[in-house]
Amino acid sequence: MEKIVVVGGGIGGTVVANRLANDIGSMIDDGEVEVTLVNDTPHNVYKPKYLYIPFGLSHTDETKRPLTEILNHRIGLEVDPAVDMDTDAKTLELESGKTLDYDYLVMATGAKLVPSETPGLVEAHEDDTAHWFYNPEGAEALRDALQDFEEGHLVLSVIGSPHICPVAPIEFPLIADAWFRERGIRDDIEITYTYPIQRSHGLLSVTRWMDPIFEDRGIDTEYPFNVEEVDPESQTLEAMEGELDFDLAVTIPPHAAGADDLIENAGIGDEGGWVDVDHNTLECTRADGVYSIGDNANHGTSKAGSPAHYQAGVVAKRLASQIRGEPPTEMYHGKTFCYIEAGLDEATYAHFNYDPETKEKQLPKESQLIHWGKTAFNETFSLITRGLI
Ligand SMILES: Cc1cc2nc3c(=O)[nH]c(=O)nc-3n(C[C@H](O)[C@H](O)[C@H](O)COP(=O)(O)OP(=O)(O)OC[C@H]3O[C@@H](n4cnc5c(N)ncnc54)[C@H](O)[C@@H]3O)c2cc1C
Repeated sequence: MEKIVVVGGGIGGTVVANRLANDIGSMIDDGEVEVTLVNDTPHNVYKPKYLYIPFGLSHTDETKRPLTEILNHRIGLEVDPAVDMDTDAKTLELESGKTLDYDYLVMATGAKLVPSETPGLVEAHEDDTAHWFYNPEGAEALRDALQDFEEGHLVLSVIGSPHICPVAPIEFPLIADAWFRERGIRDDIEITYTYPIQRSHGLLSVTRWMDPIFEDRGIDTEYPFNVEEVDPESQTLEAMEGELDFDLAVTIPPHAAGADDLIENAGIGDEGGWVDVDHNTLECTRADGVYSIGDNANHGTSKAGSPAHYQAGVVAKRLASQIRGEPPTEMYHGKTFCYIEAGLDEATYAHFNYDPETKEKQLPKESQLIHWGKTAFNETFSLITRGLI
């Protein structure tokens, strides 16, 4: 019997497991193959909805579902964090002490926030002046802080790089602008957006779209602005290029790969700690039989749900071929799709791949129709994790 282990039950992990259950279902039923998914919690979480929690437009309960509801009955589930891996012996060790053998393993442990990497950020968060919306606790604390924020300087600062979801940091100030206008307090609030490189966004197409909109809506921009420290007492972001005072800081903190210790110990990470993969096959360059998809991989495109979803489809097809004894031919070419909210009721999208020209293509004009597209997509996310679309 051949054994496939998928580590991580987020977007990438659930899609790859469910697609395998469909593609090689009869082989699983006949006992020729076993597919097991390992996750550190009993839930699948859908992070894109965290963006709406600070504005009261979503709730943490709506962002998670039991994995038992999502996974095909052919998939074995282990709710037990993976803590170590031996890529020579092809074994995965779980926190409970259980060891799983594998012939093929897919790493899909996502990324996590490490705010403690920026001196002063955790202290300012404890003082209720610096926040983030990239996890449920942070998004809820920011929601509470926004309720009392009626005047002053709100700074959205991209501190960590690389970070997940390239566009959420520009969606937040655009939604906040519209939300404050609805409440009649926009004139009392100054909004500034900071970004660490020489232009307002890493994608040229996004920069060209957002610059005039930010100017039109009175959202100031500061770049390059590389935050090194947060002073919680004076409420100042201290960057290589200068300082910025804030009354409320909304930060994108530094990130690390999920299961970063395991990746480091197994020797499968690059210098940043992300799993090193071939950008087309998604095979780990430093271990046989290991694939890596989604946010924990160094795959050459943005860390976002859509690449995790598309990569999962590619890896499921490659694995199905390998299990059947056929050469794996499916390749990933960097396909990425990001909806971008432009306020409370309009949106646009960016669609690109590894071809640099696709990153310069003009974005469509923001519209209510595209916003409804994003809303519908978010409401039906379990169709994706079930591997149906
Ligand atoms: C505010 C916000 C808005 C976003 N908006 C969008 C958007 O509009 N569009 C888009 O495409 N993307 C968006 N994203 C990004 C998207 O959510 C992620 O890129 C996506 O979830 C990545 O999928 P993944 O499978 O790689 O990781 P995840 O979905 O994070 O899943 C990783 C899984 O691994 C598990 N895990 C971690 N460590 C271990 C371990 N040691 N053992 C076992 N399991 C482990 C975790 O519990 C989790 O279940 C957004 C993200 C945020 C925060």
